[in-house]
Amino acid sequence: MNKRGHVLNAILLSIGLGYLLEPAGDLGTFETIIAIGIPVTLGALFPDVDTAFGKHRKTLHNLPILVGFFAFPALFGNLEYVWIGILTHYALDVAGSKRGIALFYPVWKKEFGLPFGVTVSSKRADLVTVLVTVVELVLAAAIIYELPQYGLEMGRQAIGI
Ligand SMILES: [Zn+2]
Repeated sequence: MNKRGHVLNAILLSIGLGYLLEPAGDLGTFETIIAIGIPVTLGALFPDVDTAFGKHRKTLHNLPILVGFFAFPALFGNLEYVWIGILTHYALDVAGSKRGIALFYPVWKKEFGLPFGVTVSSKRADLVTVLVTVVELVLAAAIIYELPQYGLEMGRQAIGI
């Protein structure tokens, strides 16, 4: 996807995450959208820096980069949520675009993608971007609302209450 697609994805995803985390639709929701949306949008723009530095869809489109940004806040106390932008960039390139990304670069240079992506210049690129974002939000909702319940249930059963 191009920059426009990644920004559209990051903004829609952040609005969705804001409402999932703070469903009231009040000032708290708005603050959450800004607090998540700015770093997520910056993160979503970052991988394509490898169009200028390194090999595109390889150098900054791999799992070590994602793990690095995921671990960064715990190690250095900043850049929270940027990893979500990196992750959603990868998801959009893998699922929404015809050409995949080299997830295991530099160890393995093969580019991985899903067969239903469209070309970056396709007229359907925006539609695909929105569809990928909807799927991401469904997964996020499942993680935010279902997994804690599931964990609680498992915990209850484990200790017999
Ligand atoms: Zn990319």
